[in-house]
Amino acid sequence: MNRELIFATSNLNKVAEIQKIVPPGYSISTMKAAGFDGEIEEPYSTLEENSRHKAVQLFETLQKDCFAEDTGLEVTCLDGQPGALSARFAGDERNDLHNIQKLLGLLSDTKDRTARFKTVITLILNGKEFQFVGICEGTIATALKGENGFGYDPVFIPEGQSRRFAEMTMEEKNHFSHRKKAFQKMISFLNTMS
Ligand code: IMP
Repeated sequence: MNRELIFATSNLNKVAEIQKIVPPGYSISTMKAAGFDGEIEEPYSTLEENSRHKAVQLFETLQKDCFAEDTGLEVTCLDGQPGALSARFAGDERNDLHNIQKLLGLLSDTKDRTARFKTVITLILNGKEFQFVGICEGTIATALKGENGFGYDPVFIPEGQSRRFAEMTMEEKNHFSHRKKAFQKMISFLNTMS
């Protein structure tokens, strides 16, 4: 049996990350491939609300099983900021480099550089909603390094590692990834339903 899930994102990095870990029996389609062409807003201040909002928007349009995720970087000494504002931390243009520069500036005087990525997935299955959370603990480096990944990857070092996410292959990143942890919880849940 093949179960199709529509992923409410237009971020091809996230689609590629998840495609790498989809178990047999599932196929992931992008919302664009499923016929949803617009952008979905993230109007709320929490990852839980934004994740739910995106899944509900997609479900109301397509009436198909789907999921959405929202991810944020929570920095300890910034009281969990930028959190749900991670993409627009330095302004509405969603510029990864500017976001990182702002973050490094805010952390320039601090000793506690701990942070975590948190992913909240909302799954809508047969019209019912479920949420799954994945967390990756780590620290913020003092300078950028690495070419891979996206967002804050050039400064995020997962706990116990010496390399930043941006210095890892996608397979290596997926070993620690917040998104993978949340996604695997969703898949385990789906496996109990079949
Ligand atoms: P989104 O709203 O879930 O697309 O993600 C918000 C922002 O969090 C992105 O624009 C990135 O800046 C950041 N982000 C999300 N996931 C990751 C990741 O895996 N690595 C680095 N940054 C990420």
